[in-house]
Amino acid sequence: MSTGCLFCNIVARTTPAQIVYEDDLVLAFRDIRPVAPTHVLVIPKVHVVGIHDAGAEHVEVLGRVLLAARDVAEKMGLVGGYRLVFNQGADAGQSVHHLHCHVLGGRPMAWPPG
Ligand code: 5GP
Ligand code: ZN
Repeated sequence: MSTGCLFCNIVARTTPAQIVYEDDLVLAFRDIRPVAPTHVLVIPKVHVVGIHDAGAEHVEVLGRVLLAARDVAEKMGLVGGYRLVFNQGADAGQSVHHLHCHVLGGRPMAWPPG
């Protein structure tokens, strides 16, 4: 728990969110400004700023985030495919400094990304 962190507050339920999945290590909820018909954020419950700040102690939770993202995509019916995105740092446009995996789907995805 990091005081003042938006996503820690969502984990603590002091900030509301549309939660779609939860287990002991991971929480998933709908993005407030979706950029695709399905846009869910999957986060570790533990506060980690970004992938660059993760260490060996986070190996299990990082794997669980990926598997939860896969399960959310399946639950959301993204049979045609989906994209998983981790924005890291300013150049990638990271705006919330609590590690999160975007699950994007429901439309074709362009490549290269913007
Ligand atoms: P980033 O830009 O850091 O990769 O992604 C942060 C995401 O968090 C953005 O897509 C943004 O729309 C989403 N977001 C920001 N504030 C809130 C909020 O209060 N609730 C929810 N559910 N999503 C948020
Ligand atoms: Zn946090």
